[in-house]
Formats: sequence, structure tokens, C-alpha cells
Amino acid sequence: MSTKNFRVSDGDWICPDKKCGNVNFARRTSCNRCGRVAVM
Ligand SMILES: [Zn+2]
Repeated sequence: MSTKNFRVSDGDWICPDKKCGNVNFARRTSCNRCGRVAVM
């Protein structure tokens, strides 16, 4: 299991929008900054 070298807490996810790139808490289902839906 290898994910990219993002430094995020367990379960957290990076916004798929490269212009945003916000790190969101795992419990979120959409980006905290731009509102984009998480892609897991
Ligand atoms: Zn975003």
C-alpha cells in the first residue's frame, strides 16, 4: 500500500483540484476550501 508522499493524518485527503490542494479531514466529504467532492 503506497500512497504518494503527502503528509496527511490517517484518513485525511487532499483535494483533487490541483489549484486547491487543500488537506481535508477524513470526516469531510467535500473540500473545505473549494467544495469539491472527495475522490477516494
Ligand atoms: Zn479544494
